[in-house]
Amino acid sequence: MITKTKAQSKSVGQIEVRDKYTGEVIGRVAQASPEDVRAAIGQAEKTFKDYGQWPAHRRAAVLEKASGLLAKNKEEIAGIIAREAGKAWKYAAIEVDRAVETFKFAAEEAKRIHGETVPLDASGAGEGRLGFYIRTPIGVIAAISPFNFPLNLVAHKVAPALAVGNTVVLKPATTTPLTALKLKEILQEAGLPEGALIVLVGSGSTVGNAMVEDPRPAMVTFTGSPSVGEAITKRAGLKKLIMELGNNGGTIVEPDADWRATASRCVMSAFANSGQVCLSLQRLYVHQEIFKPFTDAFIEATKKLKVGNPVQKDCDVGPMITEEEALRAESWIKEAVSQGAKILTGGKRKGAVLEPTVLIGVTEKMKVMCQEVFAPVVSIVPYSDFDQALKWLGTSDYGLQAGVFTSNISKALKAIQRLNVGGVMINDTSIFRVDHMPYGGNKLSGLGREGVRYAVEEMTNIRMVVIKP
Ligand code: NAP
Repeated sequence: MITKTKAQSKSVGQIEVRDKYTGEVIGRVAQASPEDVRAAIGQAEKTFKDYGQWPAHRRAAVLEKASGLLAKNKEEIAGIIAREAGKAWKYAAIEVDRAVETFKFAAEEAKRIHGETVPLDASGAGEGRLGFYIRTPIGVIAAISPFNFPLNLVAHKVAPALAVGNTVVLKPATTTPLTALKLKEILQEAGLPEGALIVLVGSGSTVGNAMVEDPRPAMVTFTGSPSVGEAITKRAGLKKLIMELGNNGGTIVEPDADWRATASRCVMSAFANSGQVCLSLQRLYVHQEIFKPFTDAFIEATKKLKVGNPVQKDCDVGPMITEEEALRAESWIKEAVSQGAKILTGGKRKGAVLEPTVLIGVTEKMKVMCQEVFAPVVSIVPYSDFDQALKWLGTSDYGLQAGVFTSNISKALKAIQRLNVGGVMINDTSIFRVDHMPYGGNKLSGLGREGVRYAVEEMTNIRMVVIKP
């Protein structure tokens, strides 16, 4: 597949996209230049003049149709995701189902973008005047997305932006551009005008930087690592920002929870997509009363996972995105072991495939605990006191989501009140998400919220109207 967009007519070469398990070249994509970025932003600005005026029902119809086309093309798209991202097919298929919903939610939100009245006479100076505000589209949005959900995390930027009437220049991850290009095709088939979504492929340091530094986009919406996110905030100048960044997700398991069912949910939460999920379960705090049986059940379930080629429909864990990333994670495991940790299962690597790895005997200062491991590696830590476990869970530079399994309402409420995170999941792990809930992190995990309605709020301006009769 060779794909070249109109805005990439002066592209500077080609990028080979590979199957992450076999290494086979599965696509060649035109590589954009900074000049292409400038042209694309100009084209998106021009399209905004018309698309920004479209009535809600027309925007909703395009998004609704795109949702249906995604569902119709599910097998093909899941196959692209499995190959270019190395994601086990079963999770790639779930990602397509989720994107179908994300676009459906966006079609619905497009019809309810509205303001509210403001009681101006609460101030003496406002007496006799009528006040209300409306929400207006902001213009061109520069969107930069990561490799790990090449469809649904793109959908979370593109769908609400288009619902509102904005236009988008999107840079997907260089390793996984094919899914985003397929989405663009689908949106065009659904009736989106040329120029309302432009996909440019190229490295973060050239294409990404050129998008961020251009003064014309009204917003940069970014999902990726905290270091790149922080660099973007310094370069972007006066623009709105959404930053969806990393995490070292933690979950507590109390003895009053149904720990057998919990163990298998925790295994999925740690190893789905080879642990390359921002909500992955990385730090698992288990009460010492159940530590032994829980850990035995966890290891038994981990050993049953099928590791291998992600296109096989029964595969649970595929390769990591690159061999370098697998090597980096392996070195963190080795460093933890040299500092006293013990591997209960896994730890071996072949190329980009790292076995699901379970560690015990870790300390809070080890990289596998205090940094984002973003690999199939989980550490299980025993505790005796719930308050202490809550403190450990909350002691993190990150603050995306956390989980607590307990049937004790007082403990659940304590967790909800104390944890400085964007979401607390009671009786689930940090991984739970549906696509219409407000989603985003505190601290190093980011700025702003996605989840269609909440992204719509970020992606609109408030225009206040005051009428003096
Ligand atoms: P990444 O290395 O930060 O890359 C993300 C995107 O940023 C890619 O498109 C990348 O381009 C681009 N980029 C790199 N340098 C840039 C620069 N200087 N200026 C502008 N753009 C630049 O992240 P990743 O490895 O793809 O994804 C993993 C990270 O994303 C993890 O930290 C994970 O937790 C986080 N994440 C967060 C969420 C969330 O919702 N909070 C969801 C998923 C992932 P290239 O492809 O060319 O490198």
